[in-house]
Amino acid sequence: MGKDIKKWDKEYIAHTYNRFDLVLKEGKNATVKDFDGKEYVDFTSGIGVNSLGYCNSKWSKAISEQANTLNHVSNLYYSEPDVLLAKKLCERTHFKKVFFANSGAEANEGAIKVARKYSHDKYQKDRYEIITLVNSFHGRTITTLSATGQDVFHKYFTPFTEGFVYAKANDLEDVLSKINEKTCAVMMEMVQGEGGVISLDKDFVQAIDKVCKEKDIMFIVDEVQTGIGRCGTLFAYENFDIKPDIVSSAKGLGGGLPIGAVLMNETVENVFNFGDHGTTFGGNPIVCAGANVVLDTIDDKFLKEVNKKSEYIRNKIKTMKHVIDVSGLGLMIGIELDEKVNAKDIVVKCIEKGAIFLTAKTKVRLLPPLTISEDEINKGLKILEEVLESE
Ligand SMILES: *Cc1c(COP(=O)(O)O)cnc(C)c1O
Repeated sequence: MGKDIKKWDKEYIAHTYNRFDLVLKEGKNATVKDFDGKEYVDFTSGIGVNSLGYCNSKWSKAISEQANTLNHVSNLYYSEPDVLLAKKLCERTHFKKVFFANSGAEANEGAIKVARKYSHDKYQKDRYEIITLVNSFHGRTITTLSATGQDVFHKYFTPFTEGFVYAKANDLEDVLSKINEKTCAVMMEMVQGEGGVISLDKDFVQAIDKVCKEKDIMFIVDEVQTGIGRCGTLFAYENFDIKPDIVSSAKGLGGGLPIGAVLMNETVENVFNFGDHGTTFGGNPIVCAGANVVLDTIDDKFLKEVNKKSEYIRNKIKTMKHVIDVSGLGLMIGIELDEKVNAKDIVVKCIEKGAIFLTAKTKVRLLPPLTISEDEINKGLKILEEVLESE
């Protein structure tokens, strides 16, 4: 069966992903099996999506029940799961309103539209520029590729959306030099994920926040990867003691189903009016039923555990051969290796031995399910240690 899947995949699926040699069949928490029954400890959660692991029982019960009750309703009518989810998100943050989309890129599209419309409503219409950071990642639509501050993504698909300006991360002077009368927003990840698990400096983030407030520039934080407990707090911006105007959320929010969310504070909560924005699938009842379980699970006690696991994993990794540095926040972990080893090779070798890791640029990256058990951690890190030791 595994063989046919690979063959048919090559034949029928567009070749946008250079897949690892791994066909996955079933999983529970951070452990997943292939078609031969071989087990792997999964430190990826499907790139930060399965926040509660594979097939969490409360989560799968909630979505099954919802699938048997009301699978989809148009956004022209009211339904319960999305409203409850929006209420929870607002009650646990300073945000006032939520718009639901279906992915990270779409959440960022929404965030960008809110910031531009706020500026359009209040100022002249050519105040539309958005400053993003070099090495950022914001998605794959034409506009979010534009927002992404990496030249490798600015190929083939021209013309890209105008109005994005790139500044260097942790370089306040560079950001300030790019702010002018056209600037409507600044957008950034608190920890650059795809860019290599690089945390921003607290001083830098706070200084940007202050400038934004002074100049009525919207501060957008892309929490698609960092949010929903990943960094040891519900949202990563909490670690920086700021209150952004707009936050995008996605990956971990649905616990394994597609969702995106735009969170808006009191400044922008009424920017979107009837007809200004929309989506057919956004706020889907089944997806939101799952997301409600994710949010209910991630309480303060749970977040304490996330931070404990983070410390435990980081301390173990620091002692391993070839490791130069361990970066990121919470369970968003980057491992910088010395020049003798290559991150991708290490990941391939770990898969052969039964542990799955990601890479991010030249680093090995860990985004384990927040519920990963101590046994799973020990089993997986032992494999990583052995592979590094043998290099
Ligand atoms: C993954 C990611 C996105 C894009 O999300 P999709 O669901 O793939 O569209 C955007 N921003 C950040 C920070 C991400 O990590």
